[in-house]
Amino acid sequence: MFLSYEYRLYPLRSQLCTINRFLDELTYLWNHALAERRDAWEKRGERVTYLDQQARLKAWRAHDSLGLGEVPYDVSRDALQRLDLGFRAFFRRVKAKEKRPGYPRFRRETTSFSFVPVADPWIAGSKRTWRLKIPRVGGVPARRHRVPPVGALKGATVFRDGTEWYVSLQYEILNPDPPEIGPSRSPVGVDLGLTHLAVLSTGEAVEAPRFFRLGERKLAREQRRLSRKNRGSHRYRKQRARVARCHTRICRQRKWMAHQLSHDWTARFDLIAFEDLSIPSMMGESRLSKSISDAGWGMLRQMCKYKEALRSGRYVEVPAEGTTQTCSRCGGMADPPLRLPDRTYRCPCGYEADRDVNAARNILERGFHEVRRNTAELKRVDGTPPSARRGRRAYQRKRAPTNNLAGSNQVWRPAAGQPGPGPLDVTLNRMASRGRTRTMTPGSLYKEQSGKRRLRFASCSRRRPRGLNEHRYLCRLGP
Ligand SMILES: [Zn+2]
Repeated sequence: MFLSYEYRLYPLRSQLCTINRFLDELTYLWNHALAERRDAWEKRGERVTYLDQQARLKAWRAHDSLGLGEVPYDVSRDALQRLDLGFRAFFRRVKAKEKRPGYPRFRRETTSFSFVPVADPWIAGSKRTWRLKIPRVGGVPARRHRVPPVGALKGATVFRDGTEWYVSLQYEILNPDPPEIGPSRSPVGVDLGLTHLAVLSTGEAVEAPRFFRLGERKLAREQRRLSRKNRGSHRYRKQRARVARCHTRICRQRKWMAHQLSHDWTARFDLIAFEDLSIPSMMGESRLSKSISDAGWGMLRQMCKYKEALRSGRYVEVPAEGTTQTCSRCGGMADPPLRLPDRTYRCPCGYEADRDVNAARNILERGFHEVRRNTAELKRVDGTPPSARRGRRAYQRKRAPTNNLAGSNQVWRPAAGQPGPGPLDVTLNRMASRGRTRTMTPGSLYKEQSGKRRLRFASCSRRRPRGLNEHRYLCRLGP
């Protein structure tokens, strides 16, 4: 399995210069590649693919040897891949007829870059003086607050969070050391909600911590202040930094909370069932509160998933439909249906429980069902070799059961020459299935982008917005 380890970086001033120059060049590259794709389609009806652009990358680099040419090849190629992912997601959303398909945007700045690290990028020092090798940047001082795992280092991303720099290292770990687990573990169903952050089928409820509210109030205040400043002024910039800081703080609190909960749950429970929230199950709730808690829920589930895998437990997601209205003892439906203010579930069969606890028990029941189905499928898959089909779909179908039962020592290993599981391969497989999705009409693409945000750099005669250099870049690289 793949695990990411994040470390704080403390680049020297000269190193920061190099990193910032990389990021500038990547911004130019992104905008240039995006403009190329867009113009080819709008003006000539031609499609430009990732491979086309990758083939041209060499020429662009040679043409701009002092700018883009200075950026390592893998770093610049990664930027093109990211753009391609953006387009792929856009085509997928167009195909799904989503309201806002989200055409890739021109960028003002780039805040991260990925590179292929050397096998062991660490340069040892005393406790606080470790350095991390980054190509063409050198050994960047890093706080190695935890020992990296034993495993192959597959990728690295340097990113900026506010004013702080971090690196995320992706390790592929074949036999992870299981963290400590409780004496006896049991299954649990989790109902995520707004009044309570989570309610477990055991009857426990996790309150939404107060600091969320406090942080949100402070954020609102700082945003209000920002709105009173003149755009582009010195004070505006300072205030914007404060707003960003608030966001970072809330984000970290939520992350901390998710780590605490997922750690605790995976130590106590060997099966965790969540409701699948991709189906909007909370249409009645206010938009705002949903969006606030949404991110936190996603993170919590993701953490439970990988931690359960590390501890040889199981993680399942089940359809949420009707979990509130069904009796978890007799399976009957509530009649009349429960309304939002109804906190207690009462059934003619005599069952009575808190509304959310009842839902959590239903989720657990469905989780059991899901696991049984997967186990049957796993047995069938187990004896036979993985299918030779490459498409991402086929790959995911193959992976899904083993993923849910990670650690049951039936983990599927790729045959020689086949891509293994993990984030890097998702990219590969996206590449493999390229060219399949696209049906769109020109002109329909940009409507969603409002006038203010929309930037255009169609040709050299256009004025470039303040502070942007895409224009220069277009001229610099030539056709
Ligand atoms: Zn009942």
